[in-house]
Amino acid sequence: MDIFKEIEPLKAFLKHKWNSESIGLVPTMGALHEGHLSLIEASKRENQLTVATIFVNPTQFNNPGDLAKYPRTLERDLEALKSAGCDVVFAPEVNEMYRRPSTLKFDFGHLDKILEGEFRPGHFSGVGLVVSKLFHIVQPTVAYFGQKDFQQFKIIEKLVEELDFNVTLRRMPIFRESDGLAMSSRNQRLNADERKKAIVFYEALQLAKGILKEGKSVQAVKEAVKKKCEAIEGVKLEYFELAEGDNLTLAENVSDQTVLLIAGFVGEIRLIDNLILSE
Ligand code: AMP
Repeated sequence: MDIFKEIEPLKAFLKHKWNSESIGLVPTMGALHEGHLSLIEASKRENQLTVATIFVNPTQFNNPGDLAKYPRTLERDLEALKSAGCDVVFAPEVNEMYRRPSTLKFDFGHLDKILEGEFRPGHFSGVGLVVSKLFHIVQPTVAYFGQKDFQQFKIIEKLVEELDFNVTLRRMPIFRESDGLAMSSRNQRLNADERKKAIVFYEALQLAKGILKEGKSVQAVKEAVKKKCEAIEGVKLEYFELAEGDNLTLAENVSDQTVLLIAGFVGEIRLIDNLILSE
């Protein structure tokens, strides 16, 4: 496995060795878990070369405390990537990716005003910036992202469409712990008590799905989810919404396309999850 910390040597390597081959890109912020590794496996199945990136991107953090405390486990991550058969890792420092502070901003319209965009101002602009840079640097054939960040995937779809990036996007299923908790790097920061409580968001999604199947109203579902979350000390619901899967319009009625999206805090740790109703 070849490891790069700088852009130019990576570009030269990719150009020299794999000019006409297919390259799969898996962007991550590290602290890797099985969900990340499933993206590596998918890329390996479909491409001659798999490039993983590990970069805790400061421009997508709206909360400085969250950025400072984001888990960083580079040595362990490199071991995991090597075992998974990843070919190339790009793990730059902040001043390599941003040689000077960037003032570029993205406006994704409706897509970055709701859900995560409402509660994390500037987050998706930072995502757009870093993903654009990674696409330019690596020039992947296929790029792999998780459904765990459903709204992020929609943002990247728009980015690729509007900027004509020559890349195919794949959205991969959510990997979960045995009790249903969506795997996340931030789970590492939960203490034992918080870890037990963190399952509430997955359970709330399941509860919502059950109530919708009974034909009850969206309002009734929202109330039930709120009640469930409020019943647990230390849990704070930020949003629970239904949205159309294709364009992420918030929905008051259920269709085949409906996605249920939830976000909230367990103690100080912010977690997100979602469920596609038809799956
Ligand atoms: P992150 O390191 O959190 O930025 O995530 C890197 C990529 O892995 C993103 O495309 C995420 O959506 C994806 N990912 C994160 N958690 C999971 C999971 N539990 N299952 C599948 N993919 C995931």
